Amino acid sequence: MGEFELVRRFFRSKALEQAGDRQRVALGIGDDAALLDVRPGFRSVISTDSLVESVHFPAQYAPADLGYRALAVAASDLAAMAARPVAFTLALTLPDTDETWLEGFSQGLAAAAGDLRMSLIGGDTTRGPLNIGVTVFGEVARGAEMRRDGAHPGDLLCVSGPLGDGAAGLAAVTGQALPASLNDDERDYLRRRFWAPQVHWEFGLELARVASAGLDVSDGLLADAAHLAEESGVGLQIRLADVPVSSALAHWPAAQREAWMLSGGDDYVLLFTLPRASEAQLTVWRAAGWPIAVIGRVVGGEGVWLDRGDGLETYSGVPGYQHFGGTSV
Ligand code: ADP
Ligand code: MG
Repeated sequence: MGEFELVRRFFRSKALEQAGDRQRVALGIGDDAALLDVRPGFRSVISTDSLVESVHFPAQYAPADLGYRALAVAASDLAAMAARPVAFTLALTLPDTDETWLEGFSQGLAAAAGDLRMSLIGGDTTRGPLNIGVTVFGEVARGAEMRRDGAHPGDLLCVSGPLGDGAAGLAAVTGQALPASLNDDERDYLRRRFWAPQVHWEFGLELARVASAGLDVSDGLLADAAHLAEESGVGLQIRLADVPVSSALAHWPAAQREAWMLSGGDDYVLLFTLPRASEAQLTVWRAAGWPIAVIGRVVGGEGVWLDRGDGLETYSGVPGYQHFGGTSV
């Protein structure tokens, strides 16, 4: 099977090409490049992610799970900008043309494309060690984008969902010993949280023009909070007791649970700051079913401060995951 045949069989499908708003794709797969229509008054939002085996996902996996996760983690960056997902491209490097693998992978990818309403508009296919590159395209009304640099002292610090599930999910999918009291539903919930992270893009749209700053939690709560604090030139105080956590994590000892909640990563919830003047939005969002939690506040100064109930400890400079080492975020 050649490269053209492979693309035609596995990627030029209705489920992938027409998953998003068809009006927006003026030209999709098949030409030298794709054409997207850009709405007047909007900005294009573009982000790329690469997935490497044993770095971003464990060597043991189902291809459909990998397909879903590849698009979801890339699309999380659009939610983090308060952007609407529109389309994506796929740069696929494969060691061989394993049809079972391609069938599963493209099905998982199509499931994510459907959930996120993003159309596959192009890509590249080459032979080599497995590598999955996804570039996502979104749009946001001019000036409504949610950047990392707008937080002000006095703002509330909020998250859009529970922390720690990504790291516990990784433990569950890599076959690590799990607590005996964890039931099958809880184990499956954690596995899904790793392989099919819920991208909070619809909630992200709610944050446009309202949040003063925000990002998605991919490196870990403290590390990503440190990114936001640094870009905004502020300090952040977090109350551990207010950080939301799923009931599945209650099966682990407190020290493990807290380490995952604070530094685990792969959660893909949105961490954002909300000016006091917009505090009433919290009630509106919660009434609409969004599990938003206020976990702290923005203060003057710098760094991230954690309150475990007995005073503040500083976490400025806590390292997040870095591919080329180093200790500062
Ligand atoms: P070119 O040689 O002009 O770069 P290619 O032969 O690489 O074109 O690709 C032909 C068409 O197939 C292009 O429209 C490209 O975007 C698309 N394509 C290639 N690989 C993929 C893929 N993995 N997923 C989706 N579209 C792909
Ligand atoms: Mg090409």
